[in-house]
Amino acid sequence: MPGNDRFSSREFHPGVRRMCPSAPLTALKAPPMMSHVPELPEVETIRRGLERHLPGRRIRRAEVRAPQLVARPDWESFVIELAGRTFRTPRRVGKTLILDLDSGTLLVHLGMTGQLLFQDPAQALPGSSVGGGRDPHAHILLHHTDGTCLCYRDIRKFGKWRLYANHEAPTCPELSCLGPDPLTPDFVLEGFASALRRTTRHIKAVLLDQSVVAGLGNIYVDETLHRCGLRPTRRANKLSAREVRGLFEGIPGVLKEALERRGTTFSDYRDAEGNSGQNGPALRVYGRHGQPCPGCGQELRRTTVAGRTSSWCAKCQK
Ligand SMILES: [Zn+2]
Repeated sequence: MPGNDRFSSREFHPGVRRMCPSAPLTALKAPPMMSHVPELPEVETIRRGLERHLPGRRIRRAEVRAPQLVARPDWESFVIELAGRTFRTPRRVGKTLILDLDSGTLLVHLGMTGQLLFQDPAQALPGSSVGGGRDPHAHILLHHTDGTCLCYRDIRKFGKWRLYANHEAPTCPELSCLGPDPLTPDFVLEGFASALRRTTRHIKAVLLDQSVVAGLGNIYVDETLHRCGLRPTRRANKLSAREVRGLFEGIPGVLKEALERRGTTFSDYRDAEGNSGQNGPALRVYGRHGQPCPGCGQELRRTTVAGRTSSWCAKCQK
């Protein structure tokens, strides 16, 4: 039965051990400051994994152990409405996962530490739990008719789930406020240049603004600005046409490379099959302040821009 946090954490699940292959202890012990919000490459990697498993699977029962994660509708209605629904091919815009159903559309935002894991008892390691078990961080579970499960884990519980009717989803606030996704043809130079011309904000703040470009966060903004040779504090409307074009091309370039390495894992991010991303060692500046710049060897600086810690090179970035 679905229930609140306190009740569910005390539920007894006979025959289910706590250890789960998708929940290594390192993830549970990582300090909060090492968490970072999954950005476009991480969310797209998860989507691709779900695409292999979800389409055609039917939800037998939805289980909500942390009701505050369900933003729409109320969690009881969420549970009732999801029963019997069948998944179609999952989509994504920016950092938002769109899980289409035969009736209804689920929007999932992973927050800081959300993990969306597909669990199959036929593939599980001995002693591992499928369907949440007593995992204290498994908060939403979609149990399928064939025994598999979509398990949502979230240590810090900043994620959000929303269920819309199919016709409501395209115009819902969470999607309609998003700018173009830089890996789609919606991302065009003219629109991007126009958005930059209209604001005097720091370029870092503009790139973090999801209504300008959807999908970038602190990691890939720092990486893109270094690649493009731009200081994070440059005023957006002061960039030359050449610099704007460089950014326009650099953003998808950085994202695609990270996607090829299945995203960046610091502590919590896992793909739909529980694997870490491999992009961490390829990061050139993010989190590397105090270390030599890979471009020139000068020590990378750290400053706060747009309220976010930023790593950059004073020599390579003008
Ligand atoms: Zn440098």
